[in-house]
Amino acid sequence: MRFSEFGLTTLKEVPADAEIVSHKLMLRAGLIRRLASGLFTWMPLGLRVLRKVEAVVREEMNRAGALELLMPAVQPAELWQKTGRWDQYGPLLLRMHDRHQREFCFGPTHEEVITDVASRELRSYKQLPVNYYQIQTKFRDEIRPRFGVMRSREFIMKDAYSFDIDHDGLEVSYQKMHAAYSAIFERLGLEFRIVWADSGEIGGSKSQEFHVIADSGEDAIAYCDSSDFASNIETAPTFPGDGKRAAATKELEKIATPGVKTIADLCGLLGIEASQTIKTLIVEGDDGPVALVLRGDHELNAVKAQKLAGVASPLTMADDKTIREATGSAAGSLGPVDMDLPVYIDHAVGQLADFSCGANEEGFHYTGVNFGRDLAEPETVDLRNVVAGDPAPGGEGTLSIARGIEVGHIFQLGTKYSEALGATVQDQDGKDRVMEMGCYGIGITRIVGAAIEQNHDDNGIIWPAPLAPFDVVLVPINMHRSDAVRDAAEALYGELTDAGLEVLFDDRDVRPGVKFADAELIGIPHRLVVSERGLGAGELEYRHRRDEESRNLKREEALKLLKESTIS
Ligand code: ATP
Ligand code: MG
Repeated sequence: MRFSEFGLTTLKEVPADAEIVSHKLMLRAGLIRRLASGLFTWMPLGLRVLRKVEAVVREEMNRAGALELLMPAVQPAELWQKTGRWDQYGPLLLRMHDRHQREFCFGPTHEEVITDVASRELRSYKQLPVNYYQIQTKFRDEIRPRFGVMRSREFIMKDAYSFDIDHDGLEVSYQKMHAAYSAIFERLGLEFRIVWADSGEIGGSKSQEFHVIADSGEDAIAYCDSSDFASNIETAPTFPGDGKRAAATKELEKIATPGVKTIADLCGLLGIEASQTIKTLIVEGDDGPVALVLRGDHELNAVKAQKLAGVASPLTMADDKTIREATGSAAGSLGPVDMDLPVYIDHAVGQLADFSCGANEEGFHYTGVNFGRDLAEPETVDLRNVVAGDPAPGGEGTLSIARGIEVGHIFQLGTKYSEALGATVQDQDGKDRVMEMGCYGIGITRIVGAAIEQNHDDNGIIWPAPLAPFDVVLVPINMHRSDAVRDAAEALYGELTDAGLEVLFDDRDVRPGVKFADAELIGIPHRLVVSERGLGAGELEYRHRRDEESRNLKREEALKLLKESTIS
């Protein structure tokens, strides 16, 4: 590709609304352009990268025996009503009417549609197992689209759905996808981790996520260095502790705490650590509000809390009015002593003695609170996010926390959708059996952003070779004034292209500095510079995007290096 014909515009300025490096670099390098919130155009350079991701995913899915199909993006409401998700999905679902006032949505995912397809196509156990996949556009009306293509509203997903006669079959299909996903992310040259995950509103049981490790990741991942345990923090469990609690040494005391609204305020006033305080959060429940009690320095885990009996799902914090009516106090002064609501107490709180908490009276707190004396011995539950240093499951080692970007997710769905939509086949005895399903997603567009998060420097993107939009950038110096340089560059361009390399030939009449800066910004792995001086010595200047310095190579040497670098 000749740069002069490629229409690429790079930007010097960092766009104001871009918060993270991949978003900034994707805009600056001209990979994407914004249309509206969460909507992006993939420009020619970006599309080349996207197609590379798709190609690797498609190859590995095909290798794993999955069958590609393509479903409509627009889906009829009736299917979603049958599975109950028309109501459950809420504002994330973009809903619309056709000219006959029939309701539709723009698909955020395709369980309903594929199950409908399968219920019509699959009649006998002999047709199983089968795994259908597509690479297709989704729409989710995200509450906070951000980070460019990483959390957009319209995005491209690879989604696959397996159908099996029984649970053992599903397990085999699931493990095949586990292996295929590992192969995909390895081939893409990304550093990733596989973690246990929550199944969310999609339903089902077993589920694992594939995360690209990056500081800007929206998810926290807990992992153990001395075992292979790794989990999204959403589902990483905490444990009740050893039951050995320090004895009470202080009397219960009620003290005036005017103006104290937060744990930090309370610690400041009393001169104590947050770990000696507890906080009480009021959430909505099935039969009125419910209190959740955590140590002052711990974070509530919404995924765990919303699974507790009587707690509303999705977890919803009670408003001020509800809190006042239920407790007689405002949010800053709550506590479990004499609280007249269902109360869930976190495991870590159960270990405390002589702690402080709100007195359910505005402007007052208790100090020296002890279980078994000032309030009943608690039955504790797991309510909080794990923190670094917590014990890992299995009794071995402790947890560390890393940030990750979810790029893939595999689920065992079981029969939730096949049951609701009547997707059955005849088994060996001629009886109807509801099929066991799995579903498997990869965020194709998100991978491009995630790859940049993991591979960049101050000057721009550093593409892992399998994702690079071009293999080589060819930079002639003063080509418009030197026939020798022009002839040599044209010859190289032809030869490299004939050898199957994807070459960006920077034939623009601009200063070399501009060409070098653009080459670094757009992150092409190999750079070859053709200059009059080099040609005099029969040499080309070569630099890999990750190298500190360039080096001079004989023409043949350079060609050999480049040709070998792309043999995979
Ligand atoms: P998240 O937790 O990030 O919102 P999710 O768990 O809702 O994602 P899934 O339903 O598991 O997403 O979808 C499969 C894959 O699609 C995800 O692993 C992710 O890579 C990608 N994906 C999901 N939502 C978006 C989005 N808004 N923008 C870009 N990619 C997305
Ligand atoms: Mg997910």
